[in-house]
Amino acid sequence: MIIAIDGPAASGKGTLARRLAAHYHLPHLDTGLLYRATALALLDAGKRVDDPVAAVEAARGLALIDFDEARLRTREMGEAASVVAAFPEVRAALVDVQRRFAARDGGAVLDGRDIGTVICPDAEVKIFVTASPETRANRRAIELAGRSQKVDYASILQDIRKRDARDSERGAAPLKAAEDAAILDTSALDVENAFRAALAIVERRTSAVA
Ligand code: C5P
Repeated sequence: MIIAIDGPAASGKGTLARRLAAHYHLPHLDTGLLYRATALALLDAGKRVDDPVAAVEAARGLALIDFDEARLRTREMGEAASVVAAFPEVRAALVDVQRRFAARDGGAVLDGRDIGTVICPDAEVKIFVTASPETRANRRAIELAGRSQKVDYASILQDIRKRDARDSERGAAPLKAAEDAAILDTSALDVENAFRAALAIVERRTSAVA
């Protein structure tokens, strides 16, 4: 079973994807890390993130085992990732690794922006997780504070709106719900209730297929 989870930044999709993967004993790939790692590789090499040639080279050269999550999960890297992610050639360079992951025996859970639309259009289960920008900014602020990073709610909200616009308006694989995705709005849900709602979607989809 392939479970494709898409949604905007800080919608809760990562937490849901991890919980679903644990529940169904499936491997999980957070595809945002690929774009973040591409941006980090560029910056470490002293290149600009808006340099398309260098960005494609960085995406092609990614070594999955080199991921340093602490450096990848910063706000700055999320922002830089959304710049490199807008280059169609960067996205193309990262398709195979994602599809290979999804094709594992028994299935997988992948989360990102274009899993249900581009990477795994035939996934048995597609969930588009969303929440209001204010809710997402609150969650991101709490998460960053937990990692002792500097927190300023207004600028986090501004970042989120900017990233939403860049991810949704780009020409290559924009952030959008697949036509056959179930929409899960987590604005009014805590983690536990969001997980229950996601489980119900999976159960509904898989029993409809069986
Ligand atoms: O999900 P995360 O915040 O880690 O993603 C960082 C950025 O990477 C996103 O804002 C988006 O631009 C890009 N991304 C993407 N496609 C994916 C996953 C992430 O374009 N499947």
